[in-house]
Amino acid sequence: MKTIGVIGGMSWESSAEYYRLLNRYAKTRLGGHHNARSLMLTVDFADIEEHQRAGTWDALGVQMAEAATQLERGGAEIVLLATNTMHRVCASIEAAISIPFLHIADPTGAALKAAGVTRAGLLGTRYTMEQDFYVGRLRGHHGIEAVAPGERDRADVHRIIYEELCHGVVTAQSRNVYQRVIEDLKARGAQAVILGCTEITLLIGPDDSALPVFDTTALHAQAAVDWALAG
Ligand code: GLU
Repeated sequence: MKTIGVIGGMSWESSAEYYRLLNRYAKTRLGGHHNARSLMLTVDFADIEEHQRAGTWDALGVQMAEAATQLERGGAEIVLLATNTMHRVCASIEAAISIPFLHIADPTGAALKAAGVTRAGLLGTRYTMEQDFYVGRLRGHHGIEAVAPGERDRADVHRIIYEELCHGVVTAQSRNVYQRVIEDLKARGAQAVILGCTEITLLIGPDDSALPVFDTTALHAQAAVDWALAG
């Protein structure tokens, strides 16, 4: 089994989920006491979140490249960035390492395509929902049209991620907000919903949603384990 390197901490609530999913899926694949061989480097999210708000993405690219390089030096054979938002700077990571980088949108795009979905709702941070780095990847690499919620709903979805989910706060009230947003996306023709932020899986499961759910955290972790076992 190859060694999976994870850039985590954005937030650590979702990184903990990655750790569980990587190991649980390796056990599903191999049985017994098998785990996924992995390394996780946890960055300080306070600093990251500040740069995001300031829009200083170049500085974030430098930090992510450093983290990926550390993982490679530590023996990782593939790198995962355990946040959708920070894929905005994935080119800096790819330029810094000589091992593969598994883009989070790719396993999700492939799963949507396999399910016959061409138009999917997208929930995530404002950066992910509004900028082109993610929506463009889904369109360009996978032929998926991503539909973002309206302005007020985007504000709520974004706020709940940073003020609640990233602190491990999960409430029925916020679940209701997300459920209503998903229903609206369905009414606008979405055939499925992408949980395009790695914390949303803490709030919304398949049974909570009016649309089939494509969870980027689970799909990313699963694709990494498949890769680690393939070679
Ligand atoms: N984990 C989140 C994501 O998947 C948001 C936190 C961050 O800004 O990295 O986008």
